[in-house]
Amino acid sequence: MTSPAYDSNNIFAKILKGDIPSVRVYEDEHTVAFMDVMPQSPGHTLVVPKSPSRNLLDADPAALPHLITTVQKIAVAVQEAFDADGVYIAQFNEPAAGQTVFHLHFHIIPRHEGVALKPHSGKMEDGAILAENARKIVEALG
Ligand code: 5GP
Repeated sequence: MTSPAYDSNNIFAKILKGDIPSVRVYEDEHTVAFMDVMPQSPGHTLVVPKSPSRNLLDADPAALPHLITTVQKIAVAVQEAFDADGVYIAQFNEPAAGQTVFHLHFHIIPRHEGVALKPHSGKMEDGAILAENARKIVEALG
């Protein structure tokens, strides 16, 4: 099976265009990082490329070095900001694998020993809490 075409009206494309709001923690020429609105743990952040691709399967290989570099940068900042014991990094390709938003993204999720994750795409977080968690990440990014 081949992947369906990229839909430029997906939620993250709208966030990249600024058509809908997001709580951003980082942006450079190629990538953006913002808070997940339904975090699986406090500090759950998403990293996306600015270039359009549905997921990793159809991504331009030239975009990937920039993307993984930002994933590492955000993971280190999230670990520090939340004093995490570990960082869970996830990326899903197509609905059968759990993908629900069809613009390539990596989940960066701080983990603490013995603390379970909340469900994927579970409950909307309060905007003030997202903003405070974003502030901690921005501070750790320096
Ligand atoms: P996926 O299942 O595609 O890997 O994950 C999509 C993620 O996007 C989910 O974790 C979900 O909570 C998050 N999400 C869905 N809609 C929005 C939104 O409008 N804004 C933000 N910031 N995150 C969203």
